[in-house]
Amino acid sequence: MKGSFKLGNIAGIGIFIHWTFSILIAFIIFSNYRQGQSAIQILWSVLFVISIFITVFLHELGHALAAKRYNINTKDITLLPIGGLARLERIPEKPSEELVVAIAGPTVNIALAAITGLLISVPDTESMTLQLTASVNSSNFFLNFLVVNIWLALFNLIPAFPMDGGRVLRAILSMNMDRRRATNIAAKIGQVLAMVFVFIGFYANPFLIFIGLFIFLGAQAEASMTQAKFILAGYTVNDVLMRHYETISASDTVKTAVSMLLNGQTKTFLVTENEVPVGTVSRDEIILALSNKGENEIISRIMNNDLLFLDADTSLEKAYLQMQQHKSTLMPVMLDQKLIGTVDNENILEFLMVKNASTTKE
Ligand SMILES: [Zn+2]
Repeated sequence: MKGSFKLGNIAGIGIFIHWTFSILIAFIIFSNYRQGQSAIQILWSVLFVISIFITVFLHELGHALAAKRYNINTKDITLLPIGGLARLERIPEKPSEELVVAIAGPTVNIALAAITGLLISVPDTESMTLQLTASVNSSNFFLNFLVVNIWLALFNLIPAFPMDGGRVLRAILSMNMDRRRATNIAAKIGQVLAMVFVFIGFYANPFLIFIGLFIFLGAQAEASMTQAKFILAGYTVNDVLMRHYETISASDTVKTAVSMLLNGQTKTFLVTENEVPVGTVSRDEIILALSNKGENEIISRIMNNDLLFLDADTSLEKAYLQMQQHKSTLMPVMLDQKLIGTVDNENILEFLMVKNASTTKE
């Protein structure tokens, strides 16, 4: 992630911290200072925030180490002011494995809370409330730490994507049904919960509205991703290949491109040089060039040359992932290093819609 600094490596996993983290620390120092807190008090507050982030890091490490048991590597763990992010190579599709990986994070928090509980004497409810409402200091530091860990465990176990609880729920459901149905049901439950959060948020705590929206969008993304993967499995790029496509030479002018635009339906052209694809040029890029640079501008100077080459034999599922990461709209498809057609985003979306319509009818 951009703007992250490497802290080190643990079990081959890069540990990063995002620079905005320093803003959070600065904010805590500043707001404590404005409240007239002493230097010692400010130090305790900063120390506490750092301890929470170590906790968040251990939570993510829990997921990563559990995934490692199933030979799934973690690219890195990044600590952001809003929490941690472990980038697993993939999410295990076997229900029992997904369950273990998902539950490993909250388990870390429960374990930390339990250990802390053994080390300190937990006060009765009344003095506990008193201690927790006071600022963090040497006498209530570990009590706060314990409560935060319980809270983190519960929060992450909310049965809704993208929380760990959502994955736990899906894993349990998919033990008895196919993964796609399990995902849909888990996503629906998550969305209902999200709406409850938003509703309560309006009356109680605006922060809940934010969490609700976050969960709602996460559930939708997870459901459509699984749906897409399910549908695309078993097909290759060849199945959505367009054999008819329009090309324009890199040495042609904007004038030629404009007349091609007016004469056809094509919105994005493949730019070639000696019949080898070298880029793409879209309707918007052509029109922009026409108004900014005139009709004699050469295509090679306005084209997008960041091409994603697809292999005709590549699975559609893999191609779809590549396309989403690459953000290109038109891809040349090659077979034995020869151009045999193109695929565009719209193609795959149409393919998904058609297949989706025909599978839900069953
Ligand atoms: Zn987690």
